[in-house]
Amino acid sequence: MKKLIFLFLGAFFLQACMKGQRVDLVVHNAKIHTVDENYNVHEAMAIKDGEIVEVGPERQILNKYAYDEEIDANGKDVYPGFTDAHGHILSLIDQRLNLDLSGSKSFGEVIFKLEKYASGQKRKFIVGRGWDQAVWGTKEFPDNEKINALFPDIPVLLIRVDGHAALINDCLYKKAKLEGKNIEGGKILLKNGKPTGIILDNTITEISKLIPPFTNQERQKAFLEIQEELFQYGITSVHEAGIEFKDIAFFQSMNKSKQLKLQLNAMLYPSKENIDFAQKNGVYHENNLLIRSFKVVGDGSLGSRGACLKHPYHDDPLTHGFLTTPVTEMRKVADVCRKTGYQMNTHAIGDSTNKVVIDLIAEMYAFKKDHRWRIEHAQVLDPADIKKMGDYAVFPSVQPTHAVSDQRWAEDRLGKERLKGAYAYQSILNTTGIFALGTDFPVESFDPFATIHAAVKRKNKENFPSSGFLASEAVSLENCIRGMTIWPAFACFREKSTGSLEKGKEATFIILDYPLTVSGNFKENFAYMTYIKGKKVYSAE
Ligand SMILES: [Zn+2]
Repeated sequence: MKKLIFLFLGAFFLQACMKGQRVDLVVHNAKIHTVDENYNVHEAMAIKDGEIVEVGPERQILNKYAYDEEIDANGKDVYPGFTDAHGHILSLIDQRLNLDLSGSKSFGEVIFKLEKYASGQKRKFIVGRGWDQAVWGTKEFPDNEKINALFPDIPVLLIRVDGHAALINDCLYKKAKLEGKNIEGGKILLKNGKPTGIILDNTITEISKLIPPFTNQERQKAFLEIQEELFQYGITSVHEAGIEFKDIAFFQSMNKSKQLKLQLNAMLYPSKENIDFAQKNGVYHENNLLIRSFKVVGDGSLGSRGACLKHPYHDDPLTHGFLTTPVTEMRKVADVCRKTGYQMNTHAIGDSTNKVVIDLIAEMYAFKKDHRWRIEHAQVLDPADIKKMGDYAVFPSVQPTHAVSDQRWAEDRLGKERLKGAYAYQSILNTTGIFALGTDFPVESFDPFATIHAAVKRKNKENFPSSGFLASEAVSLENCIRGMTIWPAFACFREKSTGSLEKGKEATFIILDYPLTVSGNFKENFAYMTYIKGKKVYSAE
């Protein structure tokens, strides 16, 4: 008996002793999807100084730690915070501050919104973004006749949803002195020898330089609203796919004032100033801002027939698209990347562009095996080139919602045969063993649950098509979640610090409102709570 009491006391003493380990926060009664190597699920997690101390069974964690704060998750799903591995916060800011044309169901609606917007503001340059003629049931681009009549004296620039085509009025055409101008990687569409008002790719970039900028204050306000919405969806990190030199300072100042709470991996456009920045700073990582890559734009989009294909477009035999950055330029950037340790993340949509980029990466692979050269989109590939991605450690960054949005016209552009290598995410995964998922917002919405539905079910939010678009390319839910958590961490060399819920990693996690399932139809879901490095950044309560 004496012995038993001794044992009992001993156990009590031991527990009290261990309870002495004090942590800041314990999350328990949860379904914690750790996304570790074996995809383990646990019930509880202890957090201190923004880091995970331990993840394990309920009693083990509750008995072991004394805590200042606890969250009883009520059995809800907990995941590592989601990453959108390809988004454009800056474009979304512009879209919000300018005329938002997304969701317009006809060209008439575009004109209606344009007139309403113009009557209510004082800016002497009208910029709209987000129209999509495919939604209006036509393959043809609109022309500028109506906007010329309405706005003879104010420049008007209306950018298509994908950012690769725009409609401008004659006033802007004259102001930009486009007559007779030949812009490399750009295009001015003509009809009967006259410009229709539609311009493509680098011509838009050129014209955009004329837009009077918004103030920093206006942009910061829009940024904070967007950041809050991202947290609401459980997105804790965005890979911002292309920023100008001036925008480095914008994000640095937000970071310094602690308003940037999101983990931002900003890719630099390879301008002279940005290359100087990379050479001077090397890999830049301050608090929440990471800069360690260049974004190279290899071609345009499939929607605007600017994506560079090996063979002509199925629905326009006279064109096969074009490269927006010549190979010699790409190689120059790749050389800078090799020397600075920066990654090169190249936008490649067409099969020709993808081949060119994979070949370049193959060249670079000879110097260093683990450089994580990324291809952004990897949208249409020759199956032979998909195989090569694995051979040369090409890192794919793809957007599943593009597949289910483009399904309306992808076959028109490509024909049946070429569809076999299009939006082929499972085939890509079979050879690379890894990918990062994103949305390319504001081209698509940044709703990560739409991404999951598109990747796993190959359906849009309206559950179309019922049997899934190119359904054999569906990926498993587990791999989809990896593609939104640990693999994007790999995609920017941060896998040792974040992307899964394991001891020693940043406590960046989300508690979901509803259980995450992919059975049946699309269900709206949100974060119930969002934490970054142990700090609450969003709560639905
Ligand atoms: Zn993009």
